[in-house]
This record gives sequence, C-alpha cells and structure tokens, in this order.
Amino acid sequence: MLSQTNQPKPNAFDNALEQLRIAAEYLKLEDGIHQMLSHPKREVTVSIPTRMDSGETHVFTGYRVQYSDARGPSKGGIRYHPNVSLDEVKALACWMTWKCSIADIPFGGAKGGVICNPKAMSQHELERMTRRYTAAIADFIGPYRDIPAPDVYTNAQVMAWIVDTYSALKGYMVPEVVTGKPISIGGSLGRDKATGRGAVFTTAEAAKVKNLDLKKATFAVEGFGNAGANYAEILQDYGSKLVAASDSKGGVMSKNGIDAAKLIAFKGKTGSVVGMAGTQPIDDDGLLQLDVDILCPAALENAITPEIARGVRAKMIVECANGPTTPAADKILDSNKVFLVPDILANSGGVIVSYLEWVQNLDRISWPELEVNTKLEDKITGAFKEVYRTSQKHSTSMRTAALMVGVGRVADAIRTLGIFP
Ligand code: GLU
Repeated sequence: MLSQTNQPKPNAFDNALEQLRIAAEYLKLEDGIHQMLSHPKREVTVSIPTRMDSGETHVFTGYRVQYSDARGPSKGGIRYHPNVSLDEVKALACWMTWKCSIADIPFGGAKGGVICNPKAMSQHELERMTRRYTAAIADFIGPYRDIPAPDVYTNAQVMAWIVDTYSALKGYMVPEVVTGKPISIGGSLGRDKATGRGAVFTTAEAAKVKNLDLKKATFAVEGFGNAGANYAEILQDYGSKLVAASDSKGGVMSKNGIDAAKLIAFKGKTGSVVGMAGTQPIDDDGLLQLDVDILCPAALENAITPEIARGVRAKMIVECANGPTTPAADKILDSNKVFLVPDILANSGGVIVSYLEWVQNLDRISWPELEVNTKLEDKITGAFKEVYRTSQKHSTSMRTAALMVGVGRVADAIRTLGIFP
C-alpha cells in the first residue's frame, strides 16, 4: 500500500519494536529483558483448506501469535483482512501485551489473523474457514492459555463458531475459550460497544486535563466500524459534534454536524457512510487534517504518516485503531503539541470488558450492563490517570508514558518469574 507521497507504509512490527526501544531507554531496561520483549513467545502459521460455495477448495493462511504470557494467559482478537501478514499480527500481539498491562488486567498479549477478503465471501464460506482455522489452532488456545476475541472484520458470530468447534473437539462446552461472544452463549452485556465507550471515557479524562469543553467540541472519525461508530454515538451524548466520518469506501463531512445514530443506520442499510443525506464527500487525508477538536483514527495501522501529521489541525487525537500513527509521525505531533491518547490506552475498553466477560464465564455469573460499564469506567479512567501522571513526571508524550507503564509492568513480571531452567 502506498501513502500520498508514494512512500511504502512502514512495517507495523518495526514500529512496535521502535516504540519498545524508546520505552526501554526511559525505563533503563536490562538488555536481556529488552531482548525477551522483542521476541514473541510463540508464532503459529496454519494452512486452512476451505470448501468454497463453488465446490472448489481454497487454502487460506492463518496466524496466531502469542507475544507474552508473563502476566497471565495471552489475549487478543482475530482479524480477517486481505492485508494480514505475520509481521502485522506480531505487532498487534505486542501491542495487546502492553494494552493488558496498562489496563492492569491479568493477561498477556496475543493476536490472530487470516489472509482473506471476508466481504467477498458468503456466510457459509466464512463459517467453514473459521471452523478449520479454529481446529488448526485448537491445541494452542484455551481459557487458561490464550483467549481470542473479535478484531477487524470478525464479530460475535465468528466467536460463536469458534466456541462450537473448540467445544466439539474437547467433547464439552467451553464458552470461556473466547470473549466477545453472543449474549445467548455467555457473552457479556456491554462488550459490543466497549471499545468505543472506553475511548470516550479516555476522551473525557483528556478533555479535563486539556480544558476542552466536550459540549462544544467537534470531532472526526476515520473508520466508521464497530469502534469508530460506537465512539461517535457515545461521544455525541456528551454534546460533541461529529463533522466527518469515513470507511473503506470513502468519507463524508458536514460542518453542521452528522447524527451518528442516523449514520450508523444508513451504513447498516447501504454498507457505507458514502452518500449520507446532508453531507459532502471527503477523502481520508482531508478528514485526518480537518480543523476539529478531536480526531479519532479508528481504522487500520499507519493512517497518520509524517506527511499527514504535518497537516493535522486537531487539538487531540484519540486512537481507537491499533497502530494508526507511525513513530516518525508521533515526533511531529508531539512537537506540534497535539495531545494524543495512544491506542494501547484509548482502545483498551474492548479487552477490559473481554476480561469482565471471562471472569463472569469462569464464575458462571452475569452482571447487568450498568455494572459492566461502571467497572469499565473505573479501570480505564484509572489507567488514563496512571499514564498521565507518568507523562508529567518524566516530561514525555502520552505514547511514551503508556509504553513505560505497559512495558514496565511486563518487565517486572519477567524479573520476578526468572528464566526457566
Ligand atoms: N481486538 C481488540 C483489541 O485489539 C480486543 C481484544 C480482546 O478483547 O481480546 O484490543
């Protein structure tokens, strides 16, 4: 994929390692621990032969990377996308490790991915591919080992197929093998909106420290999927105005504001935000450089490159996506005093409620949605405060502070555990 200046997009795992290097320097990490944290604990690559509706067989490639389990079973979503690669999954698994650590939940980090184009596949094809992928990684996952969840272009239904396949192989029901399940099989209330809701809680905290009045704030969302759309709808309840949104097919904007709930309904019907009544088209680069108070990149990695960063006019960036800003772009945003709530903090609401789902499953209980949302708010607000305190204490950006908190706790766990044998 090429950016606007035809520079190749940086490798996401290189970005993750560069972020780790910066944190290691601040933390004065021992070289051995830095080395351990630079290598995923386990990488699994599997072939997924799938019967297509045409009767032909297609062999998909899938990955599961378990980056670390020093703080608990590894945890992270599964992504279905044509651009999935082993290095992308490694980066995402690495970020999950810091994310769970910052949220202070007892998980390590993992991620899975299958190279496929789910938009061009039927439900039956997706089901057969998911079941075969599950069978291929079944020996590596489990409620005390590694717990998958939804990510880009996977959802609660995909999680249900994983539960059914895993349980069939085990011979008994194991709903707690994944989180983000449908409610009917043990999913948690509040999980579907948790990433967006959590990001709004961090926005509210950021607004307090930056003296931004959310009742008067404008915002733009790049990537109107699960995280971005819920973020928009919930932030709108605080009085902020959505002025632009985009998805893989294009973007829309309106200075007068776009009703997020209506945009969600429109996208539900047509498959895209493009063509929403009362809006003008806008491309992604234009959206990312709009004069708004809050910019929310909620799509894929490497959206904010140095070229884009130089033109960013938002006061604040809240990263709902994983890895949307390159390390080189970070430096520019930082010197331009853009306040950034980094991905591993901003979007941790998803995995925080995944943790709450897992606890409910293991205890065979279920909490009302309000209780889940309150626990989410407590956890993510606490994490924001810890990261903000760290950034003030060490005079660093919020990104570096988040990495210091996340990496620091994992390093502590490794030091305490020691090395076998
Ligand atoms: N895919 C989500 C993330 O990137 C959620 C992971 C989870 O709930 O385990 O944080």
